[in-house]
Amino acid sequence: MIHSAIHGARHDITCVLHTHTPAGMAVSALDCGLLPLNQTAMRFAGSVGYHDFEGVAVDLDERQRLVDDLGDNDVMILRNHGLLTVGVTVAEAFVNMLRLERACQTQLLTMSAGVSLRMPPQSVIDRTFQQLRRQPSPDKNGRFPPHGEREWPALLRLLDERDASYKN
Ligand SMILES: [Zn+2]
Repeated sequence: MIHSAIHGARHDITCVLHTHTPAGMAVSALDCGLLPLNQTAMRFAGSVGYHDFEGVAVDLDERQRLVDDLGDNDVMILRNHGLLTVGVTVAEAFVNMLRLERACQTQLLTMSAGVSLRMPPQSVIDRTFQQLRRQPSPDKNGRFPPHGEREWPALLRLLDERDASYKN
């Protein structure tokens, strides 16, 4: 239901990932949501969609609200539920999820220290977001490749080396 809703509306993307990891579920239940506490999190600063929990997502009526809440963003936190990322490629959706998951883990670790949080100035957060929202340099055709394009072949080689049974 969730995946088809996004695919039906966002024709600019080809992959939707959705997870229920402990760190993602934990941040999804925080009123503050994802905070720009570190460079990894700033990749998503101001560009995270939030969707309120309505129960297990089986109601077709919820589809439009999911699409509206994602908007043009690449990532969405499903409140009290988990994480969702999209990408123009599988690789991009994957690295978006990897970074969002890492940002959630790090936020929880930071908050668990139990002291006041140090946030950079908004101007620095905005600058970092602009720096990280796309690849740092264009390719020889002048286009900015999707995130993950460079990492993906290496990740597949790593997977092949550890356990190639996913191919069967
Ligand atoms: Zn779910």
